[in-house]
Amino acid sequence: MDSPHPTSAIVPTYARANVAFDHGEGCWLVSTDGERYLDFGAGIAVTSVGHAHPHMVETLNRQGAKLWHVSNLYQTPEGERFARRLADATFADLVFFTNSGAEANEAAIKMARRRQWIDGHGERYRVLTFEGAFHGRTLATIAAGGQKKYLEGFGPKVEGFDQIPLGDLDAVEAAVGPETAAILIEPIQGEGGVRMVPPSFLRGLREICDLRGLLLIFDEVQTGIGRTGRFFAYEHSGVRPDILTSAKGIGGGFPMSACLATADAARGLTAGVHGTTFGGNALAMAIGNATLDIVLAPGFLERVAELGLLFRQRLAELKDRHPKLIEEIRGEGLMVGLKLTIPPGEFAEAALGQKLLLIPAGDNVVRILPPLVVTEAEIAEGVRRLDAACAALEQRLAVAVN
Ligand SMILES: *Cc1c(COP(=O)(O)O)cnc(C)c1O
Repeated sequence: MDSPHPTSAIVPTYARANVAFDHGEGCWLVSTDGERYLDFGAGIAVTSVGHAHPHMVETLNRQGAKLWHVSNLYQTPEGERFARRLADATFADLVFFTNSGAEANEAAIKMARRRQWIDGHGERYRVLTFEGAFHGRTLATIAAGGQKKYLEGFGPKVEGFDQIPLGDLDAVEAAVGPETAAILIEPIQGEGGVRMVPPSFLRGLREICDLRGLLLIFDEVQTGIGRTGRFFAYEHSGVRPDILTSAKGIGGGFPMSACLATADAARGLTAGVHGTTFGGNALAMAIGNATLDIVLAPGFLERVAELGLLFRQRLAELKDRHPKLIEEIRGEGLMVGLKLTIPPGEFAEAALGQKLLLIPAGDNVVRILPPLVVTEAEIAEGVRRLDAACAALEQRLAVAVN
């Protein structure tokens, strides 16, 4: 496909579809040429409360006219309030605010290593991670994710990450050594292809961590803030982490993130040992609080869970109609994956042809991540467009065979 911007001044690291959007409302986006698209990608699970939510817009305007940033040299009342609300709604006692998923994971890794160090275990710095994981694109987080395609050409892999197969507790036991500090895992792998992690595996990890003095870190950058029908996905398993990272949906589209922890896990992070200029600024904190106003409102998460069930029922019917394309429905709440027989990029392109936005992932899976404010009628419309995309693909496959 020819680039719409042959003279673009943006580094060409992204394979962009040939469409640009002018504005959005709820689950809908309107392109610069006036076409309406159903947004079931939510900017990769980011626009959790939909586009241009009145409460988010009002908050942005109000805080934007008042105060954006003062730095972490001063008190931040909005941040104190946001941190308290996050702690009260979770396992955590303390929150460190950051600006992206990768940066929240960097904070989590540093926090775990430093906790070991302050307890006299400076030799414990290694982190166990899992095949198919994705933790971001910084030098340390590509080492944590362990994927060759993200590591290649960027020099020596950052030391201290050991990768094991997902779901194999014996392999975890065997991989824990005297230098191990922590285990880092997504409770549901997102980029890896909406790969579910059995609760028994998470319980096993918790036991190993308790027995061996390791910290358990959940990367909930994608699964958090209501995406799976609970505030955080760990609640489904009942397994509490020591440290948890949140990003994507937390600001409803405003770039921000957080690293949550128990007071015990955060013991090593004392004054001056870690920091960020932008993290937790007044504008981000006001917007984070606005996200929580919506997501933690009574009944909101229950509704996400119910809609997720309904959606997966409709998708099971879709799979029955298109068994040659769809192999499996995966997911929890409104984090859904279709395991396909064709490359997910091809499927997403066909959906784009029906003006439906989806997100390709690994393991031959296309992700469906609608804004959490999606309605039943919009789900029905999404399934209708998926059906049309499948029909178009089947027609193309039939032509290719004959
Ligand atoms: C997207 C993602 C990240 C990286 O977040 P960035 O904001 O792109 O740095 C890390 N972990 C998980 C599970 C993600 O889905």
